[in-house]
This record gives sequence, C-alpha cells and structure tokens, in this order.
Amino acid sequence: MSIIIALDGPAASGKGTLARKLASHFNLSLLDTGSLYRAVGWTVLQNKGDPTNQEDALKAARMIENTDLSNPELRSESIASAASKVAAQPAVRQTLVDFQRHFAANPAQGKAGTILDGRDIGTVICPDADAKIFITADVETRAKRRFLEEFGAAGSDKQYQEILHVLKARDNLDTNRAASPLKQAENAYLIDTSNSDIETVFETARKYVSSKM
Ligand code: C5P
Repeated sequence: MSIIIALDGPAASGKGTLARKLASHFNLSLLDTGSLYRAVGWTVLQNKGDPTNQEDALKAARMIENTDLSNPELRSESIASAASKVAAQPAVRQTLVDFQRHFAANPAQGKAGTILDGRDIGTVICPDADAKIFITADVETRAKRRFLEEFGAAGSDKQYQEILHVLKARDNLDTNRAASPLKQAENAYLIDTSNSDIETVFETARKYVSSKM
C-alpha cells in the first residue's frame, strides 16, 4: 500500500522545503506542481505569446510532457507571475489534471508513495489523499524570506517592497480565481510557519504524517 501526501499553501510559505524533507524522510516520489504551471508560463513567453490568452496557454499546457521542469529559469518571480496567469484558466488546469493524478498514483520503483505540493492538491487533484497539510505564513514573513533568498543582506527596502507587492498580487489571483482557488481542504492539517524554523515545521508535519500511516 503506498501513501499519497497533499501539501498546499501560498507562495513562499516554505512548501517546497517541507515537501523535499518529507519526501526524503518517508521515501516518497515528489512532484512540485507549481513547476508545471511555471513551465506552461515559460513556454508561452518563449513563444512570444500572452499568458492570459487561452489559446497560447493551452498550446503550452499540452506540451507539458516534453518540457524540462528542472529548468532553473522557471524559478524567477516573472515566470511565477506568468504561471499564476495561465493557472487561472480552467482549460489549462484541466489539461494538467491527468498528469498530476497519474503521478500521485504511480510512485517510482522502490518508493513508498508520493507527495505533491501546490495549491489545489488536497481539494481537487487528490481529494482522497492519506495526509493533507496546509502550510502558510503571513505575507510579510513570506516576502522577507523570498527577499533574503534573492538579495541577501545587501538588499534594499525598495527591493523588499517590490517582492511584497508581487507576492500580494499572486496571493490575490490564486485565492480569488474561480477555478480551483488556493484554499485549505476541510480535513487538512494547518501549519503556520510565521514564527517557526524549518526543523520545527518538519517535526510537526512528520508527526502528523506518521499518525496517518
Ligand atoms: O508553487 P509555485 O509558487 O511555484 O506556483 C507558481 C504558480 O502556479 C502559483 O502562483 C499558482 O498560480 C500556480 N499553481 C496553481 N496550482 C498548483 C500549483 C501552482 O495554480 N497546484
């Protein structure tokens, strides 16, 4: 019997780090589903398309199997913003559903299960997941983390304010869209990371997942 873990939360909440730690601890295959939407946004921009245009976005979403999800260019905030524009389109989301569910149900050889992190894993993609976690932190804390990652101690207040602004815009689009908005699944375990370090967050999540196994 393999286990499926759904991990959702807003941008820069610490999802990616927690997902990697849980995957390693419980020996799980990991899918960062944000990278799918980022790859679609990236492909649209490469083709000089418009991320808000359904035809451009759908064409890119249909090519997802042939797109390199580990491309470092996907990690920029400008690609994240294109990602959240393509992600607001129901047809694009629909195109990516099968890929994600297939991943969830088919761990790699020797793995004990899968973990998917994103925005709608516990609500839409894997509503029957064995364990569901919703991780969050206040937006200022998340912006500060992203700011330190990008600029280190040398960053200016203007750069921090810009990051805060784009994160708020992305939160707003992700939370208020009609198609699979970012929201905590009813039976998800909530972890607020505003005042916790990653080791404490991991320990809390590990205990919760163990209790579901
Ligand atoms: O998680 P990450 O910040 O990489 O996601 C980039 C964008 O992709 C998000 O802002 C969101 O718009 C979209 N996304 C989504 N559903 C997911 C994962 C990501 O809509 N399951």
